[in-house]
Amino acid sequence: MSCLFCKIANKEIDSKIVYEDEFSIAFLDINPSQKGHLLVIPKKHYQNLTEVPEEEITKLFETVKKMTILLEEKLNVSSFNIGWNHGEDAGQVINHLHIHIIPRYPNDGGGSMQTIVETGDDNLEETYQKLK
Ligand code: AMP
Ligand code: ZN
Repeated sequence: MSCLFCKIANKEIDSKIVYEDEFSIAFLDINPSQKGHLLVIPKKHYQNLTEVPEEEITKLFETVKKMTILLEEKLNVSSFNIGWNHGEDAGQVINHLHIHIIPRYPNDGGGSMQTIVETGDDNLEETYQKLK
């Protein structure tokens, strides 16, 4: 298996792991967007959310919650952007699902989730009809 994050989960390569349980692991992003930027991954290799069995989704997001609380308590963080890049067009580089927990600090100059892309939708009604 050549997946970098599988290697991290298997301890074949070093990382700054802050939490681990049977299903998941959390470690510091090697190139943090902000102080305390964590990645939470399932230990098993899944490319993205749609591949993860329901019961493991629950476990994974329990870890996301725990890590958010850890950052609140240890780094005194109260705001976060939490999410993941799903697919190449969205910026996913490592094809092993990883949830970014990015702490936000007062006046840190960053934007909100909605500013990642701002192309908009020129036919909201048509989109609605397709999706409902
Ligand atoms: P993404 O664009 O969502 O695939 O993001 C991949 C993330 O993994 C980036 O934020 C990288 O900085 C991070 N990353 C890459 N290699 C490592 C590593 N060895 N340890 C920790 N984080 C890593
Ligand atoms: Zn993997």
